[in-house]
Amino acid sequence: MPKERTEQVYVLITIDTECDHDPHWVRSRPLTFNSINDGLPNRLQPAFDSVGAVPTYLLTVEVMEDEESVESLRKLQGKFEFGTHLHAAFIEPEKKFHDYAGVDSPDFQCNYAPQIEFEKLRNLSTLFETRFGYRPTSFRAGRYGASADTIDSLERLGYTFDTSVTPHIKWSEPNGEVDFRGAPEQPYFPSPSSISTPLREGKRGILEVPVTLKNRFLRFPRWFRPWLSSREQMRKVAEYHLRKYAHQKIVVLNMMFHSMEVIPGATPYPQDETEARRFIDDMLDCLQWCADLGMQFSSARDLARLYLEE
Ligand SMILES: [Zn+2]
Repeated sequence: MPKERTEQVYVLITIDTECDHDPHWVRSRPLTFNSINDGLPNRLQPAFDSVGAVPTYLLTVEVMEDEESVESLRKLQGKFEFGTHLHAAFIEPEKKFHDYAGVDSPDFQCNYAPQIEFEKLRNLSTLFETRFGYRPTSFRAGRYGASADTIDSLERLGYTFDTSVTPHIKWSEPNGEVDFRGAPEQPYFPSPSSISTPLREGKRGILEVPVTLKNRFLRFPRWFRPWLSSREQMRKVAEYHLRKYAHQKIVVLNMMFHSMEVIPGATPYPQDETEARRFIDDMLDCLQWCADLGMQFSSARDLARLYLEE
């Protein structure tokens, strides 16, 4: 039997889509939404359109509560998907903040009681549905704070795609930790007992698509992500996955970042227009390279459908 070989490589861009922050990762004061009103329509979506990429924008509570932001999102033109992203302190039950300006949000949602976490996710999904008229199906946890309970809740709420897992990384916050050091690097159906462990066999209703990373000895893993990795480094991360998973029919690359990273001063990353331009140019260089190699861009929803219906 000939060894199975990769037939298609899919490239996803999953974007935490939030209010502007400051260079210390604290939410802006006063709260501003340039990332939504300027970032998506004027910077990100035209860039994606220029190379045929299909981003998935994962929307937070404060964005969906802001009328002007919702209006901008409804008017957005092009090919993209909207999903959800949760910072758990900002939604009932057990909501901790009503004014988000100047606030940090260290909570891992998976450290709330499972029923509380479920209700937070349900409220987030209902908020999305009241704004856009349909149910969201793609998700990422704030601070990547997801567990097996999170996946279970998402599945019950009709989600088909989660991208909260960052392989090789253990994240610690004052209220707990999440440990993805043993998690797979390529898409899988998570077992009911551990988000980092694939089902032994068969499928379930929700696909886990890890953020694309490359492990490094004694150093923080390398991201497939503009700004944190150079053009050359992003290619190397992609090539590592293509080589390592050459025996798989499908290989997936999942670029992640935040919408506000393209707004100067709204994250610790680009601080002026020149740097913001460099961010976009590096991203486009990487995506164009992917396209030139015959990789296919996909929304999160379409990729999940492919695995679920395969
Ligand atoms: Zn976030």
